[in-house]
Amino acid sequence: MGKLESEKRCNRNRKRSKRRQIYCPDHGCYLDSASRKYWLYTESPEQLRQRGVSRRVALMLIATETAVKLDNEWIEGFWCPECEAVSWYHIQMIDQREYRISAVARELWEQAAGVIHPEGNPSVGAFTRRQARANNYGGIKDFRFVV
Ligand SMILES: [Zn+2]
Repeated sequence: MGKLESEKRCNRNRKRSKRRQIYCPDHGCYLDSASRKYWLYTESPEQLRQRGVSRRVALMLIATETAVKLDNEWIEGFWCPECEAVSWYHIQMIDQREYRISAVARELWEQAAGVIHPEGNPSVGAFTRRQARANNYGGIKDFRFVV
């Protein structure tokens, strides 16, 4: 590996970047997206309430939509040049510049539509089948199912 390449390898302080401020939790590197966003859905009124939806609205949404898209939450794969691997993270957008990233809890994979689970084959679970019939709350257009 050349000198220039190794200097570019882990860029922690890119200034005035319009890139999203998402860093590797192990190395502090800027992470490059390696996948599209797999938006998260929920069938749980409780999960909606935890995100500030009133109880009445949460119950109504689940009753009418079955699976409700969570605003600003998704699973996305990122390439870290230090890890030399793609890691999958649960991303929550706090505002336009701030994101919370965390490990993807196992149950979250089942809440993401169209995901190819990195540890398994692309099975279509009961949740996804119901999701396919549900109305598209939130107006996603680029929705595809992996069958
Ligand atoms: Zn890393």
